[in-house]
Amino acid sequence: MGPVHYQINDVVELKKPHPCGNKLWIITRTGIDFGLKCQKCGHRVMIPRKTFERAVKRIVSSAAETPGP
Ligand SMILES: [Zn+2]
Repeated sequence: MGPVHYQINDVVELKKPHPCGNKLWIITRTGIDFGLKCQKCGHRVMIPRKTFERAVKRIVSSAAETPGP
């Protein structure tokens, strides 16, 4: 697999669920640190890119492929 390009508003599934039981997170910021928002409870976190890449299981939906409003 090549490098994955993540974009703001992509929805990703993490390997470990949030304490609220949700595994889906929305990317709110990209860069050296990634910002994520829990899709269920709205909790926000900032984590280093490397940590984020290890934590991601799969991309659920890409903002680039979804025509937004
Ligand atoms: Zn949550």
